[in-house]
Amino acid sequence: MQYNYDFEIASLIIMMIILLHFLFIRQFPSEKTRIFGMLLFACIFQCGFNIASSVGLANATLVPQGVNEWLAFAFFAFEGLTSYLIFRYFMVAGQIEDRKQKRVIWLVGTIPFLIFEAFLVATPFTGFFYYFEDGTYHQGFGSNFGYMYISFYFIMNIVLVLSRRRIVGTRTKMILLLYTLFAVSGITIQFYYRNILLTSIGNATILIMTYLAMQNPHELLDPVTGIGNEQALTLQLKNRIVSGKEVAIITIEVRKFHYISTTLGIENSNVIMAEIGRYLYGLCGKFHVFHNSGAFFSVLVDDAEQSRGVQEAILSRFREGWAAKENHIVLNMDMVVQHYPKDFESIPEYLGMRNFLLEEAGRMGNLAVVESDESFIEKYHRRTKVEMAVSRAIQEKTFQVYYQPIYSLKEKRIVSLEALLRLSDEELGFIPPDEFIPLAERDGNIGHIEAIVLEECCKFLSRHVLSNVSLGIRTIHINVSAAQCLRQNLTEIIAPVLQQYHIPPSMITLEITERTAISTPEQMQIHMRELGEMGVTFAMDDYGSGNSNCSYLIRFPFQEVKIDKEIVWAYFENQTAQAVLEQEIQTIRRLGIPIVAEGVEKGEQSEQMERLGVDLIQGYYYGKPMPEKECLRYIRNFNAMPEEYGRNGF
Ligand code: C2E
Ligand code: CA
Ligand code: CA
Repeated sequence: MQYNYDFEIASLIIMMIILLHFLFIRQFPSEKTRIFGMLLFACIFQCGFNIASSVGLANATLVPQGVNEWLAFAFFAFEGLTSYLIFRYFMVAGQIEDRKQKRVIWLVGTIPFLIFEAFLVATPFTGFFYYFEDGTYHQGFGSNFGYMYISFYFIMNIVLVLSRRRIVGTRTKMILLLYTLFAVSGITIQFYYRNILLTSIGNATILIMTYLAMQNPHELLDPVTGIGNEQALTLQLKNRIVSGKEVAIITIEVRKFHYISTTLGIENSNVIMAEIGRYLYGLCGKFHVFHNSGAFFSVLVDDAEQSRGVQEAILSRFREGWAAKENHIVLNMDMVVQHYPKDFESIPEYLGMRNFLLEEAGRMGNLAVVESDESFIEKYHRRTKVEMAVSRAIQEKTFQVYYQPIYSLKEKRIVSLEALLRLSDEELGFIPPDEFIPLAERDGNIGHIEAIVLEECCKFLSRHVLSNVSLGIRTIHINVSAAQCLRQNLTEIIAPVLQQYHIPPSMITLEITERTAISTPEQMQIHMRELGEMGVTFAMDDYGSGNSNCSYLIRFPFQEVKIDKEIVWAYFENQTAQAVLEQEIQTIRRLGIPIVAEGVEKGEQSEQMERLGVDLIQGYYYGKPMPEKECLRYIRNFNAMPEEYGRNGF
């Protein structure tokens, strides 16, 4: 028979182009890449042997039968292999983690391949797939088995991908669908037009689609430095985790990276990044160096011992500085070191801990090295647990708001309350707000939390305070974090809630620390003006704990200043603090701003603060933070007989 192998030649050209690309562009070693490489070769050989065999058969008079027999055998061998390798590729893409399940699927998929190849080996003797007679090729009695074999893998691939549909992406599903469609159409056409060879069309289709969408090496390379990117690092790490091999990961953060790219320009900063990449590449070698993103590089080192040497080398290289065109620049950096399997078990854990360690390193000086150890791991786990507890409490609405009295020295009664959040978790028990508020600020949960506090306060005011004038509570103090102050629509968040519960805005005092005020000065001034026009007042919280400066009181219209408890305590312990606080209080008084002293625990402290000119006291001496009902009872009793209450040390 005269075969038409035009489609095979076209397929071969496409596959050769993919092969060239595959060989010349750096491929990160992984099981998927290995199988893809094998598949690529198998498809090319299958196609090559198909063409060669067709040419041989067409020229049977010139080509010895032995050669044609050999070519047919080779074609069949690779045909069996390609179907099997495509299945193996989808198996890896399915990311089956369960070892037992993986083994079963592997076995079910491998047995037909072995049977196929066994039948093929027997074919020269049995004529199962084909036989030759007078130099002519004939289909054997088992030729239909070949179709069954290919169909088995079509079904197997579909079942595999469908069962892992949540893990595999849409791309993989589309590739499988198109491949199956092309391959089935090819086989069907060939079934009716036996002389047109179409076997490799399906293979070329899957190779080109896979190479572009799932195996594209550029997806793993960073365009700036030409080394691997974060995805490549994760893949390499995943391989280590699967094989259980020890590894140390050193991550470098170039400090003030944005500053560098804005002052030197993107181009120059890219030159520096590429130079750092090249240096690390030279130090640690291929497949071990990654440019995670902007300011971050990671290197993989095989063990802790080697890691120490690499750390030293990197540190001393950074001390020398880097060249960018005519600039010579010394970069500040910090470094964190993590070890597998000592420190983490999974990629998400590695990434979470890396961020945590980088934050820790960021707090230290230049060239800080933070190597993860038991105390860091414990701290990290605690932080993760607290973050989860906060999310849980938001979902399950288990946050509680406590109220702490603020006592007026002049009126000798409790006149306001500060709302303080309480979180009690089933597993962790009581979690102090000083611990969970900063975490909630980091992960963005603070918005939900502060909405809860505001709503609770409004409910409390509308139920118990508005209707009960004799309580004498004029305002409720609510803490506002820096993250909330950064939001442009703070007024839009607060105003509707006040309206909903019919709360006069003048009953709300927002507490803002001076650090928050100066970190977002423009935004803060807008909030203060907008909310101030409504009647909301503002108190400067924790006065004296930062770089306190009375000029903030001129710049921002605060109606109250709360002196930080640490400063109040320091006043009673050292003379310098005494002089400073006396001076500060004098100045604030001259500005006509009422002063609250926090953290007053004893009668003498209260008396001394009164002598200094403080107007209000918030401290355990006049009442601890209490739940709603208890607080109401406390205020009633207190205001009825303040003399006994306060002085008896409640
Ligand atoms: P803060 O705003 O300075 O709140 C006063 C803190 O001092 C409270 O701690 C209170 O219990 C404590 N305190 C008051 N008087 C005394 C005293 O006489 N002795 C001692 N030892 N402590 C006293 P708490 O409730 O643990 O809150 C800590 C911080 O958490 C607060 O400091 C505030 O910055 C933050 N926080 C609490 N609730 C919220 C909230 O709803 N939103 C925001 N953004 N932050 C909150
Ligand atoms: Ca406060
Ligand atoms: Ca405070």
